[in-house]
Amino acid sequence: MADREYNLVMLGPPGAGKGTQAVRLSEAIGVPHISTGDILREAVADDSELGREAKGYMDAGELVPDELVIAIARERVAREDCADGFVLDGFPRTVPQAEALGAAMDEVGRQALLVINLAVAEEEIVRRLSSRRMCKECGGIYTADDGEVGDPCPNPDCDGALYQRSDDAAEAITERLRAYAAQTEPLIQYYTDRGVLADVPGEGKPDDIAEAVHQAAIA
Ligand code: AMP
Repeated sequence: MADREYNLVMLGPPGAGKGTQAVRLSEAIGVPHISTGDILREAVADDSELGREAKGYMDAGELVPDELVIAIARERVAREDCADGFVLDGFPRTVPQAEALGAAMDEVGRQALLVINLAVAEEEIVRRLSSRRMCKECGGIYTADDGEVGDPCPNPDCDGALYQRSDDAAEAITERLRAYAAQTEPLIQYYTDRGVLADVPGEGKPDDIAEAVHQAAIA
């Protein structure tokens, strides 16, 4: 095990670029990327019991109940591949989730978290979310400029097709932003009070943002 753990959390509103930046950061540092949204979407696609419980909330843009998501995250960060750390993307999203994560880390004697807060203006978020396109096959995140729904995935190594996440529809976006403001934004204060929050501007060139995120993570 390395001397230093990288126990990282990407915080920010929906559409801030958490997924894109979390993948890059996990590759740069060499610790797993853990997205509760990806785990839940996979469960929905598999039509598992978890997926059936979560689907209605997700389609409406609402948060899935804490107990379900906490169980997923606790199990995932306890796995061996997280011994040197992880990049959590989309978890925690509520104060009870943050408390559960802190307690779980303390229980097993893990080093402190560092929370990277990606800040993006609301108009930009709505623009990004409504033009986001994803690939079913490789999980790539694209924009409407790369292709419309049903078009081939721009990744030359992938033969998948682009789709739009059901929760990127206009009504669900409004609900997700409301859920963010009510339930997730308080985490900025929660982690500021604990001295573990680093703010990184989430607008600009993706490479510049990635560099700023990386510097914050290794500081
Ligand atoms: P994401 O891909 O992170 O935007 O997550 C997509 C959806 O999955 C969210 O809108 C929620 O419905 C659900 N979800 C993901 N992570 C969480 C979480 N930590 N707490 C509650 N719901 C979550």
